[in-house]
Amino acid sequence: MVPNYVGGRWAASAATEFVDVVNPATAEVIARTPLSSAAEVDGAVQAALAAFPAWRRTPPGERIQFLFKLKNLLDEHIDELARLITVENGKTFGEAKAEIRRGIENVEVACGIPLMMQGYNLEDVTPGVDEMQIRQPLGVVAAITPFNFPAMIPFWFLPYAIACGNTLILKPSERVPLTMRRAFELLAMTGLPNGVVNLVNGGRTVVDALIDHPDVRAISFVGSTPVAKHVYTRSAANGKRMQCQGGAKNHVIVLPDADMDLATQIIADSAFGCAGQRCLAVSVAVTVGDAQHTFRDAIARAASGIRIGNGLDTGVQMGPVITRESKARIESLVAAGVQEGAKPVVDGRNAQVDGYAEGNFVAPTVLDGLPVSSSLAHTEIFGPVLSLVHASSIDDAMEFLRRSPFGNQASLFTTSGAAARRFRYEAPAGNIGINIGVAAPMAYFPFSGWKESFFGILHGQGRDAVEFYTESKVVIERWSRQETRKF
Ligand code: NAD
Repeated sequence: MVPNYVGGRWAASAATEFVDVVNPATAEVIARTPLSSAAEVDGAVQAALAAFPAWRRTPPGERIQFLFKLKNLLDEHIDELARLITVENGKTFGEAKAEIRRGIENVEVACGIPLMMQGYNLEDVTPGVDEMQIRQPLGVVAAITPFNFPAMIPFWFLPYAIACGNTLILKPSERVPLTMRRAFELLAMTGLPNGVVNLVNGGRTVVDALIDHPDVRAISFVGSTPVAKHVYTRSAANGKRMQCQGGAKNHVIVLPDADMDLATQIIADSAFGCAGQRCLAVSVAVTVGDAQHTFRDAIARAASGIRIGNGLDTGVQMGPVITRESKARIESLVAAGVQEGAKPVVDGRNAQVDGYAEGNFVAPTVLDGLPVSSSLAHTEIFGPVLSLVHASSIDDAMEFLRRSPFGNQASLFTTSGAAARRFRYEAPAGNIGINIGVAAPMAYFPFSGWKESFFGILHGQGRDAVEFYTESKVVIERWSRQETRKF
């Protein structure tokens, strides 16, 4: 059983219900996640509350010393952590390492807190009166994360939260608890005071208990849209600050003037990398004019050439999807697309990998000619499936994007600066790529989803993270001149 980490101590949960952690390539059960109770959440909140006063008073320059140590430990243990990610999530070892690097980047940025957390001031707002804005930590905050980035997504929140002086409770996905278990062992090795970071494993009960707890001030959530909406509305009803990142259906428009070799290579990586289980994976390519045939033939060749298998095996380019149910769901959505009129030019259903008969493998799939009016055109698949939609003009392509309920990412492939500028200006999504397949913002920029892909105002990462994890206070001061004459 995966233990919880509360108040600086590892302890077994008293849970009576568990979720099996299953290696998606081999179907082997490798651990059990306890579904912790609301009482256990309260225990973690009490530990975080007890740690807060001293942590808040620790100077920001001292707080970040623990993050410098953490960065070094993550670097030193990157291979070990990457192996854990591959074993519990399924992505390849190379993808897992790349993910950890993106997590470490957030630790590095949070080390700039002594500068980023500064407020501002102005003397003589009226003669002899000065005014200043200062930033103060909120108190106890919580983060709830999904299965697809077991290391990176918790680090979108944890480093900023604690660098700003808050104490934190993390609830990782019950399907991939082992990466954070190890990361918390490394956090403990930094000497961080007890209770500053806490880990509670579980599912819905833990999430709702965190949202309902009166001493939890803010909730950061990443996951599917229905759950993001639930967390957003329930947190709002409880008067909490929240940032909730939801699902996605990302589009790329390929113009006929694009560099087709570059576009094919980058879009194939975006659509099929991490088995399509990235919230920034391209899911629909909208080809304009002549790009329809050139791009379709090239992407079909690229998709067919991808080697699938166990992500720990050398030469494997794409691993399995997370669960058997996920595989069944993806394959049934492909069938629905075919039913709605799309042609499977590359069909990855019923994929078999030698030596891994029980693995959840879906090979890269390309659906050509998906009708714009089909339900699949706007349904998140979250698997290695790229649909091709044809548009006769960039206006039609943009109109299709505008109708999407999601707005996580939109990309354009072109060699025209004017088309690129128009796209940047009009595209209805928060993360925009120009000749980029996965427009994942660096840690010093916010991860800016829109529409049903994000509920809230302040995003994760960068300056938004500092605003999210701090309360703004304005102080107006007047000191009588007479007092100075006393000295
Ligand atoms: P999920 O919504 O099933 O789970 C996310 C978290 O919510 C988990 O910790 C889970 O325990 C908890 N949870 C699940 N059901 C719940 C419920 N009914 N009530 C309360 N809590 C609940 O998501 P997932 O399958 O782990 O992750 C995949 C989804 O996450 C995809 O939709 C993907 O697009 C999205 N995602 C979005 C982003 C982004 O930045 N917008 C990033 C990564 C993943």
